[in-house]
Amino acid sequence: MQIWKHYINGEWVEPASGEYFDTENPYTGEVWAQVARGNAQDADRAAKAAKAAFEGEWGAMRPTQRGKLLVRLAEIVERESVRLGEMEVRDNGKLMAEMGAQTKYLAEWYRYFGGLADKVEGAVLPCDKPGIFNFTRHEPLGVVGMITAWNSPLLLLAWKLAPALAAGNTAVVKPSEYTSTSSLAFMDLIKEAGIPDGVVNCITGMGLEVGQPLVDHPDVDKITFTGSDVAGQRIYESAAKKIMPVTLELGGKSPNIVFEDADFEAAVMGAISGIFAATGQTCIAGSRLLVQRSIHDKFVKRLVEVAGAATIGDPMSADTHVGPVTTPPQYEKILNYIQVAKEDGAECVLGGKPYTGEGAKGNRFVEPTIFTNVSNDMRIAQEEVFGPILSVIPFDTEEEAISIGNDIVYGLAAGVWTNDIGRAFRMSEKLKAGTVWVNTYRAVSFMSPFGGYKRSGQGRESGQDAIKEFLQVKSVWIAQQTSASNPFVLR
Ligand code: NAD
Repeated sequence: MQIWKHYINGEWVEPASGEYFDTENPYTGEVWAQVARGNAQDADRAAKAAKAAFEGEWGAMRPTQRGKLLVRLAEIVERESVRLGEMEVRDNGKLMAEMGAQTKYLAEWYRYFGGLADKVEGAVLPCDKPGIFNFTRHEPLGVVGMITAWNSPLLLLAWKLAPALAAGNTAVVKPSEYTSTSSLAFMDLIKEAGIPDGVVNCITGMGLEVGQPLVDHPDVDKITFTGSDVAGQRIYESAAKKIMPVTLELGGKSPNIVFEDADFEAAVMGAISGIFAATGQTCIAGSRLLVQRSIHDKFVKRLVEVAGAATIGDPMSADTHVGPVTTPPQYEKILNYIQVAKEDGAECVLGGKPYTGEGAKGNRFVEPTIFTNVSNDMRIAQEEVFGPILSVIPFDTEEEAISIGNDIVYGLAAGVWTNDIGRAFRMSEKLKAGTVWVNTYRAVSFMSPFGGYKRSGQGRESGQDAIKEFLQVKSVWIAQQTSASNPFVLR
């Protein structure tokens, strides 16, 4: 049994409480490690270590050197990607095919933002006041608290850590209590890269016990959070009390919209990838499938064929398409939503129950499930399920597709399937979502901004703008000559 302590100031330390909690493999149901159960004392210790590092060596380091360390980290991450991917699968039960690709790809975030570290430039302003030299500096915020969800622990962390460190901040990481181990293992790689002790700290435990004290800590200058909108709202309210900036990456209920002129088979695969990849446990799940009525029945038939043939089982097997649900509460939630959908009059044309067939272990499998006869005002169409449950909603016109697509509190992503280039542009303009994919789905890159409209969050991760989330602008005024002019009026 592996035992994981907190990582604070470059050392593995016991939790103040002396307590640990189990972490289990969602596929087998076996407890495979124990993780430190943090509390406010641990959050205090980690925040103070991060503050000291910010005020010490890291704060004094030139951006070029910071960038070099991030690039070195990228190389180490690449070397360790398989091991990290396997840890994530053991913790969250997602497919190795997906997690292994993610842990390999996340090196690119460290490489990209390492390169960006010394390209953050201020400006010399053509000041309208005579005799004044006015310029801007982009300065780090200080200590950033990074709180992540369980579905893609290290990728979500890379989206935060790479730009925050490039900008010169230090960090306290609080991964999900369900999937802490890969973030903890990552701390050794940070040390190996030569990033000074205290710059990145990792504390583990429950959201309310250790996450909330981190948010409330006076030495924490920003929170960047990925998780549910419920927790995100609470963190936003806490941050407001400190007037502290936050980046929030929250949930979604994304429309994936198929027009009759689309490449039929590509759209079917896009719909499947939108909801059954990652067992639907992805913020960008295309959980509302809007299909033009003229092709609706044929499309549903093909969907049922493909999804019904998916191999369910061991996430480590290259042949598996759909793995287990990650957490027990999530499993219960998914089954509950299936019930709600049925009671509200949706028609279940595939699945709709736990999977207990070949390959199932640990009582954590749900069959890929498709509902038709869904209207957009049903709960199954309005609320995030975070599981392999697809709602199919018919539409007639482009205007109706836009109206249904946008009739939701969320705005994380949207998909459009069409061969009409004009329609592609119109739809991408009219859909209220932070990402719109046309003729593809579930694509992300280190160089493309990602984030939500509406209740899906605020702020952006990835891409050049992401570094600005971790910087503040200072305007510096230097008078070339002193003057003793009237002090009672604005200069
Ligand atoms: P969650 O909100 O339950 O937990 C997320 C993290 O927040 C965990 O580390 C948890 O311990 C912590 N937490 C909870 N309450 C807290 C509090 N009051 N103070 C500080 N920390 C607190 O979410 P989850 O179930 O782990 O993840 C699933 C959710 O995450 C879904 O809604 C999904 O859409 C969302 N998500 C969003 C993105 C995105 O980029 N937009 C990506 C992945 C997941």
